[in-house]
Amino acid sequence: MSRVAYVNGVYQRHAEATIHVEDRGFQFADGVYEVWSVFGGRMADFEGHMTRLHRSLNELRIDIPMSAESLTRVLKETIRRNRVRDGIVYLQVTRGTARRDHPFPAPGTPPSVVVTSKSIPFARSQAQAAKGVAVVTHPDIRWGRCDIKTVGLLPNVLAKQAARDKGAYEAWMVDEMGLVTEGSSTNAWIVDKAGKLRTRDTQANILKGITRTAIMAMIEAEGIELDERPFSVEEAKEAKEAFFTAAGAFVMPAISIDGVKIGDGKPGPIATKLRARYLEEAKREAI
Ligand code: PMP
Repeated sequence: MSRVAYVNGVYQRHAEATIHVEDRGFQFADGVYEVWSVFGGRMADFEGHMTRLHRSLNELRIDIPMSAESLTRVLKETIRRNRVRDGIVYLQVTRGTARRDHPFPAPGTPPSVVVTSKSIPFARSQAQAAKGVAVVTHPDIRWGRCDIKTVGLLPNVLAKQAARDKGAYEAWMVDEMGLVTEGSSTNAWIVDKAGKLRTRDTQANILKGITRTAIMAMIEAEGIELDERPFSVEEAKEAKEAFFTAAGAFVMPAISIDGVKIGDGKPGPIATKLRARYLEEAKREAI
């Protein structure tokens, strides 16, 4: 018997069920999910999972895609069409499909809804439970590998949206020591009040930006002194200049941080020079 998936209002053959390439679940892990156990074709802990779903959606400011009654109908219908007696039903709701950009898409962008259901022999679980199963320990790194350019970008999305909500272009993320790690999609730099160019070292848990590396070669060629050392929010606010780097943004001067004017509130000379130099070299070398 072929399986069936519900995707955005349509029951499709599971093997052919697809979501758009620019769905935010795929691009940013910008979505939530729930799983219900199914016993004899009926969902267990129904209200508990439904309540948590609404909480998760609310926390992420994702629109509720349909009424609880409609969703219940879809969950039941997916179980029925898959002839699941014992197993699970899986629901995923994402922030929908939009041109790829970290901030939330335009209001009214419909969330994506996917429901699948599969049979899991209850006897298998009973057999495992009768014997007991093994456990191993593992470091809790959720998500402590910011050096990997992963698509698990939900925290970055929330940081970028926080910037947009405050009328800013970028958010600089701050660790528990009050030190700036990096931007939500960029590497962060300052020219500190002593005139030293500073950016966090990549031994720390940040992405090693390719633009950052390219800029470093130019800094050396220009004879500018670089200190690869983290800086605090306070140091950033007192800096002569602040800027950030990334593919797409190149070198972008920041003129204020949390409303505090940086330097004289205009793009600084070092950022301006590095931007021009980067663009010149990047254009020349582009293949
Ligand atoms: N940090 C983060 C979190 C990023 O997502 C990016 C890239 N978008 C960068 C830094 C900058 O990297 P690159 O210069 O390679 O674009």
